Amino acid sequence: MHKTELQPAVLQPIDLREKRPNQKLRFAAQMFSAIINIWIGVQFYLFVNFLENGGQGWEVSRPPGVEGWLPIGALVSLLHFLYSGVINNIHPAGMIIFVVILLSALFFKKGFCSWVCPVGFISEILGDIADRLFGRRIKPPAWLDYFLRSLKYVILAFFLWAVVYQMDAASIEQFLYTDYNKVTDILMLRFFTDITMFSLSVISLLFIFSLIVRGFWCRYLCPYGALLGLISFLSPTRIVRNEKNCIDCSSCATVCPSFIKVDKVKQVVSDECTGCMACVDVCPVNDTLKLTIVGKKNRVSSLKWAAVLVLFFWGSLFAAKLWGPWENSISNEEYIRQMPTVTGGQFVHP
Ligand code: SF4
Ligand code: SF4
Repeated sequence: MHKTELQPAVLQPIDLREKRPNQKLRFAAQMFSAIINIWIGVQFYLFVNFLENGGQGWEVSRPPGVEGWLPIGALVSLLHFLYSGVINNIHPAGMIIFVVILLSALFFKKGFCSWVCPVGFISEILGDIADRLFGRRIKPPAWLDYFLRSLKYVILAFFLWAVVYQMDAASIEQFLYTDYNKVTDILMLRFFTDITMFSLSVISLLFIFSLIVRGFWCRYLCPYGALLGLISFLSPTRIVRNEKNCIDCSSCATVCPSFIKVDKVKQVVSDECTGCMACVDVCPVNDTLKLTIVGKKNRVSSLKWAAVLVLFFWGSLFAAKLWGPWENSISNEEYIRQMPTVTGGQFVHP
């Protein structure tokens, strides 16, 4: 069939989730992740309440999954493991979650960002609201976009410098068993429950910026995303465009939440690609935009790819919960002893 015989698919980005089965699956996966995280948040809140009441009243156990929100502590734990071969018993789940996320990028690019991460999900919802409000997506001029995109790498470099470069094996070991590290999860909760006007203003600004530029936090500021983007270059999977079949409808570029010019490249090689598969979904011509493995010509089903990613992530955590190091070794009595230092403001979450 000649190129001009095909009509380009006129799909608005906002219609994607409703019309494409892959995007429906993605929404379900993101909802699942959001529900798990809300559950963890509520359980952890009740646990801290129990501690604040001196262990009186309704006893709620601590959900170890809360450590997934402590990536810097997880990086320190991972370094400790690499130095000593020992998984620390203060925040073991945090390290497991961190490693599983890094491994996921090795095989599934930044798929974690668009299929699992609850922050990415919130960011996407804000982007969808902005799509409805403005009817088009706003992208800063190229020079500003490049500058802003570099910020997340600067933040990542700072954390790597502070942890990997500045801390030796002895100081890492010492830090892990400090009273401060034992209660960082509680400090994080109090950051939100006792939020300052300054923090609230910063978070509000991020919400507003996310309405103006889709995925503002993820694209410009998230050091986790920066790290996954770098690792994703090692992934053997690629989205490849068959130039002979392509009718230049640019639907793929229009729907791409990462502003990648999918319609202009032979294959997507970008640290910004989150593997959302929106471009693959929207392409109107069979076998034109497909997911492949480097060196192989055959298409990889994007649906199966995504299903394996989600199963890999949650399956690994479930296996760690059942058989691996997951629960920490801090007793409720020790937590209760530490509470005056937390409520007294001796430690502050940075
Ligand atoms: S290139 Fe495709 S898979 Fe990657 S972010 Fe853009 S739309 Fe999603
Ligand atoms: S690859 Fe992109 S531009 Fe080409 S036909 Fe598919 S959606 Fe249209």
